[in-house]
Amino acid sequence: MANPTGKPVSAAEARRVAEEARETEWKAPSFLKQIFLGNFRLDLVHPFPEPPPERPEFRDFMARLDRFLMDRVDSDAIDRDGKIPPAVIEGLAELGAFGMKIPKEYGGLGFTQREYGEAMKLITSRDANLIVLLSAHQSIGVPQPLKLFGTKEQKNKYLPRLARGEISAFALTEPNVGSDPANLATTVRRTPEGDYILDGEKLWCTNGTVASLFVVMARHPDTKKISAFIVEKAWPGVEIGERCHFMGLKAIENGIIRFRNVRVPKENLLWGEGKGLKLALITLNTGRLTLPASCAVLGKRCLEICRTWANERVQWGEPIGRHDAIAQLLAEMVATTFAMDAVTDLASSMADMGDRDIRLEAAVAKMWSSEEGWKIIDRTMQIRGGRGYETADSLRARGEAPIPVERMMRDFRINLIFEGSSEIMRLFIAREAVDRHLGIAGAFADPKAALGKRLAALPRMAAHYAWWYPSRWLGWGRWPRFAEFGPLSGHVRYVDRTTRRLARAIFHLMLLHGPKLERRQALLFRTVDVGADLFAMAAALSRADQLRLAGAAEAAQAAELADIFCRTTRRRIAAHFRAMRGNDDVAKYRTAMRLLDGEHLWLERGMTPMAMAAELASEAMPAAPAAARG
Ligand SMILES: Cc1cc2nc3c(=O)[nH]c(=O)nc-3n(C[C@H](O)[C@H](O)[C@H](O)COP(=O)(O)OP(=O)(O)OC[C@H]3O[C@@H](n4cnc5c(N)ncnc54)[C@H](O)[C@@H]3O)c2cc1C
Repeated sequence: MANPTGKPVSAAEARRVAEEARETEWKAPSFLKQIFLGNFRLDLVHPFPEPPPERPEFRDFMARLDRFLMDRVDSDAIDRDGKIPPAVIEGLAELGAFGMKIPKEYGGLGFTQREYGEAMKLITSRDANLIVLLSAHQSIGVPQPLKLFGTKEQKNKYLPRLARGEISAFALTEPNVGSDPANLATTVRRTPEGDYILDGEKLWCTNGTVASLFVVMARHPDTKKISAFIVEKAWPGVEIGERCHFMGLKAIENGIIRFRNVRVPKENLLWGEGKGLKLALITLNTGRLTLPASCAVLGKRCLEICRTWANERVQWGEPIGRHDAIAQLLAEMVATTFAMDAVTDLASSMADMGDRDIRLEAAVAKMWSSEEGWKIIDRTMQIRGGRGYETADSLRARGEAPIPVERMMRDFRINLIFEGSSEIMRLFIAREAVDRHLGIAGAFADPKAALGKRLAALPRMAAHYAWWYPSRWLGWGRWPRFAEFGPLSGHVRYVDRTTRRLARAIFHLMLLHGPKLERRQALLFRTVDVGADLFAMAAALSRADQLRLAGAAEAAQAAELADIFCRTTRRRIAAHFRAMRGNDDVAKYRTAMRLLDGEHLWLERGMTPMAMAAELASEAMPAAPAAARG
């Protein structure tokens, strides 16, 4: 369905909508926010927050879940059939898995974020489709925004149903709305009685074809504001359209949902009119923490696969893991997996503490873990060689272990796209990284602002930067600071020093490029990547130190992994700083524009034609049989 205006909104309008939905206040401290300002707040990540001792109730649940996954879930069959068997969904519902995050008073299990993360890790270790089913339901589906923003009546009405196993879905995306909600075309109009009439079409709604409840984002045509509603599938006018199919996650129930003149009672508005986008963003703050948990488990599974195979497979007279090229990959994989686990647990624990603002930590955890996880699965494919590319069924048929690297890779790739693509996460993080500077110097740097307004900003700027800038050069980041970290103290000092260096670099870029910096994404994204790496280093160092303090048996190994991770990451950070000073960004941008303008069409000669336009594609494809829809 097209945007009712017929064309996408302007860049300025897209920015305005995003700004309006932004949470502008920072009521609680954030480690990453401070990193971008040049303050290394070790106290916010150290000591590493350990969960309280495991509750017997939680331990029982995990044991039952483990047995269930082992006995009843056949991942190869799920992938092959493109369907999660109803018995598996029923079994999960009986276990209470649809209500893990729902408070006990509403019939849920009342898990903390960290406990929920542990359960989701266990499920991921068995099957990625199940994690997407459960995550779309309760990380971003109806339970999460309802818990955060619902009224008592709404909670009483829906949470018990959801805890019992009614499936829910989150419906924001539309054909013209992927990363940019400003194009939202689903409309909602008020009736004289105060209810709402919903019209529109949602795309790629995970669980959409099996859910009975949806949280739907729609726009008021008069005010242009976006609101969120709980919508029931059973209501007249809700139509479940085509099921969509993807490269991986073959069994997710993802589809098109149409709303035609659907009457939504006023009681089903969530939070308030015009607060829908903000609700979606806040829901995603903790909602997107499930994804890094899955990435950490993928890393662990890849380690298991590669450790076994690199020992077992002998080529050129030696196990392949003993050839230097493969050994280098293995070392980075094990060190990064240690860091991913630390990042996930740290961000989840921070969410449970409730006294920290985790929006940047969650975004970094999602972006960083999905990208590092992708490298790990790619390397696992390389280490498994041809067997990595072969399907599990084919391996089994030949009498070999059915190790599903091919499926894991297919299932994993989407993590860099949904729940905020890597680029959108970087934009979001970069916006917050420069926020303080914009607040203080924004008016001065704005060429459209009146001269009076620009000059009025000067005294405030002078007062702030006269102290702030020199102090980003001061501070002792050398020995013996942080000596209590023992052999890892050098890395802690590096994080401290580099935090100030990063803040200076951001400031220098702002001075150099002014408002045009907004358009220099490659430059801005390097600053984001340095911040993300510093967070990952801090998490790994803190986790290693916590194991040392606890006298854990694996403390020495953890210190080794943290050390290797930090050494590798420091080299990457150095490369980012170098590229901030000298790069080919402008030349590459120009080449990309020429490509877009067709100047390099000559290079595309010599291929068979491909249908690039939608009309051609629909001409070529026979209409889907009715049975395949819904
Ligand atoms: C399997 C699957 C499940 C999904 N589940 C759900 C769901 O349950 N509910 C739901 O609402 N949606 C869902 N989605 C939609 C998903 O969230 C979107 O695909 C995602 O937000 C990206 O949107 P898009 O695909 O339209 O890409 P686009 O927004 O068209 O972006 C295309 C590319 O351009 C980049 N890009 C876009 N804007 C910018 C910019 N300003 N600067 C730099 N780069 C930019 C993007 O990062 C991306 O690389 C699902 C999608 C899939 C494939």
